[in-house]
Amino acid sequence: MLHVLPVDDWIEHREDTTCVCNPTIETAGGEMLVIHNAVDGREENETNNISAGEGR
Ligand SMILES: [Zn+2]
Repeated sequence: MLHVLPVDDWIEHREDTTCVCNPTIETAGGEMLVIHNAVDGREENETNNISAGEGR
């Protein structure tokens, strides 16, 4: 079982399918892939950072 964990997330992820972030389970090449969700709203921030990062 492989775990995909967000880097520097502010919650502690359990390397289990019962993690608090409600991970997505996928299978790739017979291997189980547990994709953990970042709970800090990073996906929304990424789009915002494009314009916000340009300011001085
Ligand atoms: Zn998790």
